[in-house]
Amino acid sequence: MKKRPFLTEQKAREIARRYPTPFHIYDEAGIRKTARALRSAFSWNPGFREYFAVKATPNPFILRILKEEGCGADCSSDTELMLAKAVGFEGDEVMFSSNNTPAEDFARAQEMGALINLDDYTLIETLESACGVPQTVCCRFNPGGNFSIGNEIMDQPKDAKYGMTRAQLTQAYRLLMQKGARHFGLHAFLASNTLTNAYYPTLARILFKVAVELQRETGAHIGFINLSGGIGIAYRPSEQPNDIERIGEDVHRAFEEILVPAGMGDVAIYTELGRFMLGPHGALVTRASHEKHTYKEYIGVDACACNLIRPAMYGAYHHITVLGKEDAPLDHVYDVVGSLCENNDKFAIDRRLPRIDRGDLLYIHDTGAHGHSMGYNYNGKLRSAELLLCEDGSVKLIRRAETPADYFATLDFTGLRFE
Ligand SMILES: *Cc1c(COP(=O)(O)O)cnc(C)c1O
Repeated sequence: MKKRPFLTEQKAREIARRYPTPFHIYDEAGIRKTARALRSAFSWNPGFREYFAVKATPNPFILRILKEEGCGADCSSDTELMLAKAVGFEGDEVMFSSNNTPAEDFARAQEMGALINLDDYTLIETLESACGVPQTVCCRFNPGGNFSIGNEIMDQPKDAKYGMTRAQLTQAYRLLMQKGARHFGLHAFLASNTLTNAYYPTLARILFKVAVELQRETGAHIGFINLSGGIGIAYRPSEQPNDIERIGEDVHRAFEEILVPAGMGDVAIYTELGRFMLGPHGALVTRASHEKHTYKEYIGVDACACNLIRPAMYGAYHHITVLGKEDAPLDHVYDVVGSLCENNDKFAIDRRLPRIDRGDLLYIHDTGAHGHSMGYNYNGKLRSAELLLCEDGSVKLIRRAETPADYFATLDFTGLRFE
């Protein structure tokens, strides 16, 4: 399927006159549409709630849109909790799914009334001494081994640092009950960026069965099951996007087959999606600034891996559209590179693209999740602005670009003054 930008060349040029490239821009209409599609897919479950994974796009303006669409916030650190609080999320609108958790973070989460998801058995003690054990606690499961769907190995939970073993779950529920917990959640995240409609239903069957066992073994009341994140997006034009309606129906079937007969038909389903919610609704717009002809053909752009690390870190594919040349023949092969002194600073390698001229605007697709948020300052590079393309077509600056003063803000050294 051809990937279409949510910006025309004309609109992008108009924006770039006000806000210099590079910038990340998000599409409000698209974000709302996806949030509504997810809600509709799980509308069979009265307690359903998506807790947006804040780490994917930690911008309060984006979080506010999601809040308006009925989402909660999934946080994993003290600062993410502060951000959620500033947006107005409170109580059970906040999920605290952390790991290797500092005691102070538990205290903050508890103070906000957040739902606390424990990654490990030993964290029960940390939680108790930090702030006491709340009425409702969630535990994270790691089944070990390989996680496969049919014949395909999706990931290897045995090598993942997250979650408790099956035996530890039972122990944890028992100990938490002794310490006063009354309601329980169950959580697992077994594969990331999955492009199969079977991921959630397969995970749901595993968790539903374990929930029934735990309920029978311990007598605990299980209030919710959190399917966490992991639904992927079609980064490549050749990939088929997930069908969320179908995923919702298949989780529903598993629910009817496993939980309802066990008398657990009141369990709420929660999700903690990041990539699926925001990924396709953000783009990195950058300008072609240089060309270089050596052993390969290079196009240098004004963004670098500091603005989007996924290609450098994971070899991730991000589709590129040269704005204004959407339908031009792909008759050139380029490496599209940033300016870091790091040879992995490449947005594309051997990519077939139309002829690129200096000054062209390149639209790097699907940067709405784990894009700007994974930014960094290597080589003294500054992180870009974030913009919001509002539903009415106007553009709002939702995070300004960093300046040298920001870069030096944590230093106290005579001679460094940036007013
Ligand atoms: C990262 C993360 C998510 C979101 O993952 P996506 O791949 O963006 O859907 C959800 N829950 C937890 C605990 C995470 O660490």
